[in-house]
Amino acid sequence: MIRIAELKLPLQALPVEARRAADAPAETDADRTPQPHPIEALRTLAAQALALPESAIANLHVHKRSFDARGTALRAVYIVDVALADPAQEDAVLQRLAGHAHVQRTPDMSWQPPARAAADWTPAADERPVVVGFGPCGILAALTLAEMGLRPIVLERGRPVRQRTKDTWGLWRRRELNPDSNVQFGEGGAGLFSDGKLYSQIKDPRHLGRRVMQAFVDAGAPPEILYEAHPHIGTFKLVKVVEALRARITALGGEIRFEQQVVDFVLAPAGEGRWRLQGLRVHDRGAHGTEYELPAQRVILALGHSARDTFERLHQRGVRLEPKPFSIGVRIEHPQGMIDRARWGRHAGHPLLGAAAYKLVHHAANGRAVYSFCMCPGGTVVAATSEAERVVTNGMSQYSRAERNANAGLVVGIGPQDFPQHDAAAWRAAFGDAAGSRYAAEAAALPDGAVHPLAGVVLQRTLESAAYRAGGGGYNAPGQLVGDFLAGRPSATFGDVLPSYKPGVTLGDLATVLPDDAVAAMREALPAFGRQIRGYDRADAVMTGVETRTSSPLRIPRGPDYQSLNVEGLYPAGEGAGYAGGILSAGVDGVRVAEALGCHVLGVTPPP
Ligand code: FAD
Repeated sequence: MIRIAELKLPLQALPVEARRAADAPAETDADRTPQPHPIEALRTLAAQALALPESAIANLHVHKRSFDARGTALRAVYIVDVALADPAQEDAVLQRLAGHAHVQRTPDMSWQPPARAAADWTPAADERPVVVGFGPCGILAALTLAEMGLRPIVLERGRPVRQRTKDTWGLWRRRELNPDSNVQFGEGGAGLFSDGKLYSQIKDPRHLGRRVMQAFVDAGAPPEILYEAHPHIGTFKLVKVVEALRARITALGGEIRFEQQVVDFVLAPAGEGRWRLQGLRVHDRGAHGTEYELPAQRVILALGHSARDTFERLHQRGVRLEPKPFSIGVRIEHPQGMIDRARWGRHAGHPLLGAAAYKLVHHAANGRAVYSFCMCPGGTVVAATSEAERVVTNGMSQYSRAERNANAGLVVGIGPQDFPQHDAAAWRAAFGDAAGSRYAAEAAALPDGAVHPLAGVVLQRTLESAAYRAGGGGYNAPGQLVGDFLAGRPSATFGDVLPSYKPGVTLGDLATVLPDDAVAAMREALPAFGRQIRGYDRADAVMTGVETRTSSPLRIPRGPDYQSLNVEGLYPAGEGAGYAGGILSAGVDGVRVAEALGCHVLGVTPPP
């Protein structure tokens, strides 16, 4: 097939009454038209691009679609794949158009398991691969292993999606946190209650992102995620997709065990300071409430960025960990209509465009980068803590993205040098007296410049506890209006923008919760962002805090064989291990690591 990019067609101007009122979004799923142009129109353009008669094109399908709202005309921009009526002609056409910037051979984006176990594979008790965590990374890892015929066992500390949804609502509606079943933990992982954005900037020469998307579509996700330039699923649809993926893994012989928390690692010495994994200690948090040992030679550790207790255990067992940079800040909310107008101009409200997104970056004079993170058009800010008496914000939306406000993290990059590793009181507050004092002593004994692997967790916990106190308790988040934040005074009343965070927002002074450097950088960035999106720094835009779980505070380094640098059989993966950021990249990492593990089990060479 031949891929042709940059095919542009104007979109019909909609009569004003057919548009969504930009200030009152009321889009429903039904409003979305799969393709605004008939395939015949694209066929005409494609034939022109290839300098062939239309009859030479046997088949055409849309690979990607985006919208260009610059200038006066609104246009759809397509990348299409065409099959010629005479496939033997394809080589000649490609040769004739060699060097044409927008024409190339369609790459093979299909995925096949790199190897398969024999149907009569009868593994020993410790030979079945184990996946810890059932977020996007663990799900795709388990699916890949299951499709390789390796019948994985999945251990997930949280509960199945339906129960988890109720538990999560418990925090948002009744201020009751379940530390093992919440926005971060449970079936579907951290991305379940999210905007479900499914794009990433990772290098992906093997098109594994497509494999992940196809798996989602096969499990019931809207097919348009395969061709939208910036696809998203939204929370409710994700719930069904995750359930269908679970059913598929189970049908292939995998087992998914919920409320099973891995609490320890059974390691045997392997010489030269290295270890070999022998099994896992598992706390059955369900009906049994007991602890047991699961023998396992090979385990994919897909923990997510919030598994702080497990990170601590890995550190205690001597598994190599490294501190890594992440970002901290707040969530900021504006009227979605304002963002639509800034982004789409006179086309704001066109149902095909949906709610507009944005991405902003500012390099502050103090050396900090301030940027928008995980922007959720037409969404809500959510309480995202997994730990008692701490407050963390994040954002989610439904597929329709129909809520009144746009929200995004407004975050500042920080690195290990910013972690409070020489603050013994902070260590104790973060980890309790005994362990905190021990880690503080470890940190004090490190050579100059070295940073303790758990020091980033200290910073996160310090900020999240401060936010809880500033919110006045009961999981209210501290909030402030942008005008007051810029003027350095606490807020007392809301303006036109009302915050969406539940259970509630307590107005005050966010500068008392965040480090000074971050506050200074944000104060500089907001007016700069206001010059890019008119009204971004409006006085009544609302900020709530704190945003601390932007990525993992540490990395579990792995070698080229995807195994931990000092524990054979342990395969760190996904966001918690520091190898992904976001649903799609976590899923891709899950595929990659599972392929490697599966090939090791089957004694074949993994794909490059
Ligand atoms: P996770 O999804 O965190 O999954 C890890 C799983 O491991 C969890 O289910 C946890 O319960 C389990 N676990 C942890 N410790 C143990 C243990 N000891 N034993 C057993 N199980 C354990 N990303 C996007 O790309 N787009 C978005 O729109 C988006 N929105 C988001 C909105 C919110 C509210 C949040 C919180 C995150 C959002 N993200 C989004 C980020 C995205 O969710 C993560 O990047 C992604 O989920 C990481 O996948 P993962 O599988 O590596 O880890």
